[in-house]
Amino acid sequence: MAFNPDDIEYKKLHFVNGEFRSDKDSSFDYIRPSDQKKLDSIPNASKDLVDETVEHAQQAFQKSDWSNLKPRQRAKLLFKWADLIEKDVDYLSKIEAMNSTRLISETSQGDVFATADTIRYFAEWADKIEGQTTASSPNVLSLTIKEPYGVVLGITPWNFPIVQVAWKAAPALAAGNSVIIKPSEYTPLSIFRIAELSIKAGIPKGIFNYLLGEGSVTGSYLVNHPGIGKIAFTGSSATGSKIMADSALTGLKPVHLELGGKSPQVVFDDIQNIDETVSKIAAGIYLNSGQICTSGTRLIAHKKIADELVEKLIKIGSQKLPGVTWEDKTSLPPIVSKKQAERIEVLISKSVEMGAKVISGGSWHDTNYGGYFYKPTLIENVTQEMPVFKEEVFGPVINIDTFDDDNEAILKANHPTYGLAACVHTSNLNKAINLSKKIDSGMIWVNHWGYPDEFSHPAGGFKRSGIGKDMGSNGINEYYKEKAIWIPH
Ligand code: NAD
Repeated sequence: MAFNPDDIEYKKLHFVNGEFRSDKDSSFDYIRPSDQKKLDSIPNASKDLVDETVEHAQQAFQKSDWSNLKPRQRAKLLFKWADLIEKDVDYLSKIEAMNSTRLISETSQGDVFATADTIRYFAEWADKIEGQTTASSPNVLSLTIKEPYGVVLGITPWNFPIVQVAWKAAPALAAGNSVIIKPSEYTPLSIFRIAELSIKAGIPKGIFNYLLGEGSVTGSYLVNHPGIGKIAFTGSSATGSKIMADSALTGLKPVHLELGGKSPQVVFDDIQNIDETVSKIAAGIYLNSGQICTSGTRLIAHKKIADELVEKLIKIGSQKLPGVTWEDKTSLPPIVSKKQAERIEVLISKSVEMGAKVISGGSWHDTNYGGYFYKPTLIENVTQEMPVFKEEVFGPVINIDTFDDDNEAILKANHPTYGLAACVHTSNLNKAINLSKKIDSGMIWVNHWGYPDEFSHPAGGFKRSGIGKDMGSNGINEYYKEKAIWIPH
């Protein structure tokens, strides 16, 4: 599947009411992560275009048949959209790899299919949403019905661009809302194809829209717009907090937030197959070069097996091949941007100054590609005051810690501020259940790392890791408001 990125055509346009639009306002540079080549100047959607888009999305919500369509009919159009996306795998997987840090070997086997299947999963929910009848006097009918919000704003990060569009747009559309997506300014190029295919599938104009732009410009105009009915956000905890505060001040719009994490991988000495466990731990920290919200960034290993685990983890890391996303052989993708690369350096060097010890990696691969490729890195002697403990590094960097007994493992697994995901590796069912209950994280994975390919699994975190859930029945319910009706008769 290797390809030449310069052969890939793309549109740097917004998509409003079924049409691609340019804008003459300010712009930002799009820099390709793999080679740091400035590919283009992309327009920030202006305040006027934001106003116009919200107006179109509101009109489409009220006047198109989308929210009034029989739910099964909405589902059929969403299925068609998913089929078209899947059929387009050859092109979509290339533009996604060119656009982002995602490897062509992964976009062509995973991301495009995950995007289509997410849409299918939520399409299946369209006619399965139920209200309730509530206890009432004999001469009263009291019930609740669920209704879409109107215009949903989905703001997405750069690490899984098209998958994230589906995570936000599919449940919102299945519930009957219209949608405006604001993709990350770091990965703005693949969404146009998803939009084209929505129209081809028969989704009415104005129901699926997107606006390109920087968060502080276009993102902020959108969040503060009074016409937005609900905000679904995935990104960093700092931006999530700002969006929640802004939305509270401009209409108390409901928000649900999928944010960052500092997820532990707890390993007991009773694991059956150490190589299998290490390969799961390695996937948890090296996939997408650690640029995943659920990356397992803290290894907490039983003292008896810690040395062996570390040795094997270093070996797997040393075999990762840095390279551009469009080559098949690459297994260590680039860090998304210069800014993010500099951030990694600062977090690690400050922690080292405070006493942390880098036992492997801790520097950049020397390549001719132009992108930033951080070596898989293991750090010991980490304390809770250090930046590598307190912050998401968003690189292939794992802190190493050990424990003697279950209580110590639980204490160390619980992070003071984050609570997104946690892995527990053990062959003892009692330990697995005990830790699953006592670790304060939104997702616990036993003998496994990573969001499973079962979309019924609710995804989301506690504390600074977020509010609400994507996916599963919780995921679809985020896109409805519930109305209580009381009818005396
Ligand atoms: P980010 O917070 O910088 O940006 C996310 C999005 O928010 C982008 O589209 C950006 O343009 C927009 N934005 C920024 N400021 C804004 C503002 N003031 N108003 C409106 N929009 C604004 O995050 P990122 O660097 O793109 O993504 C990485 C982060 O996302 C990491 O922290 C990661 O953990 C998190 N993430 C979480 C999940 C999850 O499901 N919990 C999944 C993927 C990524």
